[in-house]
Amino acid sequence: MDDFTKIINLEFDHNIIGNKRVNTVNSPEYNASTILFDSHEDMMLAENGKYSGIYYGTNRLPNQRELEESLNILENASVTRIFPSGISAIRHVLLSFLKSGDHILVCDNVYGPTKLLCRLFLSKFDIETDYMPSNAENIEDFIKENTKAIFLESPGSITFEIQDMDKIVQTAQKHNLITIIDNTWATPLYFKPLEKGIDISIQSITKYISGNSDILMGSVSVNEKHAAHFDKYYSLMGICCSSKDCILALKGLKTLKIRLKEHEQNAFFLASWLEGHKIIEKVLYPALKSHPQHDLYKKYFKGSSGLFGLIFKKEVSPEKITTFLNSLNLFGLGFSWGGYKSLISAGKVKRDCFCEYEDRVIIRISAGLEDKEDLKNDLENALKKIS
Ligand SMILES: *Cc1c(COP(=O)(O)O)cnc(C)c1O
Repeated sequence: MDDFTKIINLEFDHNIIGNKRVNTVNSPEYNASTILFDSHEDMMLAENGKYSGIYYGTNRLPNQRELEESLNILENASVTRIFPSGISAIRHVLLSFLKSGDHILVCDNVYGPTKLLCRLFLSKFDIETDYMPSNAENIEDFIKENTKAIFLESPGSITFEIQDMDKIVQTAQKHNLITIIDNTWATPLYFKPLEKGIDISIQSITKYISGNSDILMGSVSVNEKHAAHFDKYYSLMGICCSSKDCILALKGLKTLKIRLKEHEQNAFFLASWLEGHKIIEKVLYPALKSHPQHDLYKKYFKGSSGLFGLIFKKEVSPEKITTFLNSLNLFGLGFSWGGYKSLISAGKVKRDCFCEYEDRVIIRISAGLEDKEDLKNDLENALKKIS
């Protein structure tokens, strides 16, 4: 027999050595497109959709399933599936639950690319989008005959406005609308949307879940009512995440509880201190008593994570903002958030409906895991240069 024929057919189950399972604490990494059947009978079961095991890479390998199951437990969901990024998770939810002629109501404080998806993609399929303010009293006024879903982000990751979820869910249920939330800021540790009657919860795993700024991934967790529909569309779309990324996400997830607490403490310390600074007009952080929706924050959230915003007084020019950002040593100038390294970014608020922050620059701080006094000193030093 040819050497290569031998090598290819070598029986070597790397999980069993000396008749014993190699019981590592962490799961081994599976890399596979094809999974071999034990028999033709099994293959026929798979052909008829009756095989209970994994028979192809797109069925999700053990690493993908372990991550999904872990998130499913945290979100208290029926089904959780993972995606190659947070934005692809959002895109998939929108496209699997909406069809031509439908209308979606979106809270106007959502993540910018979510709005772009509505503008560029949904419009192509004749799906209409309307925006409503986070603090809308009259949600019913925004609902049309063809409204199918309401999309929330609470608090939004730019202006940190919170929605009164109970009220929205009540209205949505009355009109038989699907409720979807981008739950990245709170993570399922600090808010469990499905327990509040929201149908679908989305995470950008990229942020706190992985926590190391080393992967891009998203997840969608769905309640029982919508699970079968969601899963049907998921399996058809060929969405695959690498096993290595799943292992990294799982590694992050396992320490989320202690990391998040530390992010929260650092953010609360910095936000409280910054709030008193003479060139700062406003600090946007739901855990502060000064937050306009602090009551809603206390009603819904078990804690606040490490991301918050601030607005300088109007006298601080764009040039001074640039000097401030360039003077920081510990805060990295970078998009994204939720990792161990503190980050800072600045962006102008542009809204699709009225917002008190319209056209103001929001400085967004992701408090990392450095010592809080060091972070404060760094900010203090940069603020001195422009005060
Ligand atoms: C980053 C982010 C996303 C998108 O996640 P990616 O993994 O970067 O695609 C979605 N929603 C919110 C609130 C985010 O901050």
